[in-house]
Amino acid sequence: MEIPKELRDSGLKATLPRLKILELFQQSDVRHLSAEDVYRLLIRDNIDVGLATIYRVLMQFAEARILWRRQFEGERAVFELSASEHHDHMVCVDCGKVEEFIDEAIERRQSLIAKQRGFMLRDHSLSLYGSCSSCTALAPNTLK
Ligand SMILES: [Zn+2]
Ligand SMILES: [Zn+2]
Repeated sequence: MEIPKELRDSGLKATLPRLKILELFQQSDVRHLSAEDVYRLLIRDNIDVGLATIYRVLMQFAEARILWRRQFEGERAVFELSASEHHDHMVCVDCGKVEEFIDEAIERRQSLIAKQRGFMLRDHSLSLYGSCSSCTALAPNTLK
């Protein structure tokens, strides 16, 4: 099995759990995964890695900056590949779904506000909380 570049660069040894977890993030359509999500997906693929090991690998990956750890309010921490472009998040407080968005006007305003205050901006994270379109569609008061 070829060792992915991310692992080689990180200096982390290519153990089976690390390889499998990295592969999962690279192949999953869902970009934001919690430790429990990773656990479920590995089980589905008949790969038995304990939850404690998964937590440990995820934290090692976050430290090595292979993954970003996102802690949304009231939600379990989720992880996503750090190779992705900068983006902001919309978090559904009903089902926990995380959607990504990027808005140039918001990005520009944030830089401008920081600049006006002499604040040297390094990074930002913006998370919107609410109900996603599937959840509002299910809400009784909006039933047609
Ligand atoms: Zn939802
Ligand atoms: Zn994201």
